[in-house]
Amino acid sequence: MILPIIAYGDPVLRKVGVEITAAYPDLEMLITNMQETMENAQGVGLAAPQIGKAIRLFLIDASPFAEDPDLSKEEQTILSNFKHIFINATIVKSEGEEWAFNEGCLSIPDIREDVFRQETITIEYQDETFKKHTQTLSGLAARVFQHEYDHIEGILFTDKLSSLKKRLLKKKLDNISKGKINADYRMRFPNAKKR
Ligand SMILES: [Zn+2]
Repeated sequence: MILPIIAYGDPVLRKVGVEITAAYPDLEMLITNMQETMENAQGVGLAAPQIGKAIRLFLIDASPFAEDPDLSKEEQTILSNFKHIFINATIVKSEGEEWAFNEGCLSIPDIREDVFRQETITIEYQDETFKKHTQTLSGLAARVFQHEYDHIEGILFTDKLSSLKKRLLKKKLDNISKGKINADYRMRFPNAKKR
């Protein structure tokens, strides 16, 4: 089932997600629905707060990035296989130079901005069977992970922009929260006028 994606301005996007256990109600169904929702919106990642649940769960499918001909063969291979479910994820180490990349977010349609993020991170997480994993990520995989991880910490990519950029975007962000936007997927807007 395709779930509506929660738009910018909803308080659920600002909550720090809580850890979950295998006893979380209907978890399998929730993950399936989130996968369908992400695919339908052509996203490379989707975090639980974006469908209204403040829990530490997000999905990534970075395979669309693998088609970028400017990337090395090695990075293309990594990205085409970077498709996982991340439960109770943590970043245990960050290293390397911060670099900028033009990011977007399914909760903030039509806005794309350069965001600086750490080059290499070491992460720990549990998969959908609650098996623990430790992994080191670099480049775009590390970037997508950090974007989704921020969601379960209540942080959005627009928070990371300069104060000037934030001022310039304010009106556009207000309009998104009111539903004055055309997204080609289902959304729920916190400040939409009731009809
Ligand atoms: Zn996002």
